Amino acid sequence: MRPTTRFAPSPTGHLHLGHAHAAMFAWRLARAGGGRFLLRLEDIDPGRCRPEYAASIAEDLTWLGLDWDGPIRVQSAHLPDYAAVLADLSRRGLVYPCFCTRADIAREAAGSAHAPHGPDGTPLYPGTCRHLPHERRNALYAAGTSHAWRLDMAAACAATGPLSFHERDEGRLNCDPAGFGDIILARKDAPASYHLCVTHDDALQGVDLVTRADDLKPATAVQRLLQALMGWPEPEYAHHRLLLGPDGRRLAKRDHAATLRDLRERGTSPAEARAMAGCPD
Ligand SMILES: [Zn+2]
Repeated sequence: MRPTTRFAPSPTGHLHLGHAHAAMFAWRLARAGGGRFLLRLEDIDPGRCRPEYAASIAEDLTWLGLDWDGPIRVQSAHLPDYAAVLADLSRRGLVYPCFCTRADIAREAAGSAHAPHGPDGTPLYPGTCRHLPHERRNALYAAGTSHAWRLDMAAACAATGPLSFHERDEGRLNCDPAGFGDIILARKDAPASYHLCVTHDDALQGVDLVTRADDLKPATAVQRLLQALMGWPEPEYAHHRLLLGPDGRRLAKRDHAATLRDLRERGTSPAEARAMAGCPD
């Protein structure tokens, strides 16, 4: 097997040891199997991504000792690709425009004693706009009201039937995306969601071994749903442990001490950084 894996960070800050762990995990699987390792920048969120971080990501990975195959795919340069997927799902009646504000959704959830909650504990979208009358929808369009696009989860699940995924070392696991509710596939301020872009790009780029941190394992159901809806190939999955900081909490961009840049400036060697990232040579 010659797997194609990828590391796909968002350029919203400098890479930290958690990123180094994820990148090393994917890179080693590719290289050990004689396969390909791709680098992709998930930069479709214009409010959070910065060009200077995009440059530092490539620099920091090179310092860490990683190399990648082919050009770096920059998602913001391919927005028509994602719009085409959305248009396809729209033609098939699987997505609908949602005009709700965050406040609308919170108010709706607070007003219902039995508001269902998603796997992460946040209230699920109550479906307010799913069956908006045509006249109302057209009036909102005409008024220029900004809107997101949501997946009609029930219709999507009915279209695909039961789903499962193949986890390396564990075999086939059943998964059910229904609990995620009507997820957003395009936001008001970002033209496509993480789920849509990542599954589209993995299929396009021939990524057949998807590596992700353990905390994302439940959401694999959403990826499998989109792959099945779009007829994209099913990759294998390999989840890895989430690297935690000294305080036992997940590493975040606010933990400046853990950035690769900072380690390098303090004289840490790449081999030491790899060991700190839980990937000793
Ligand atoms: Zn809505």
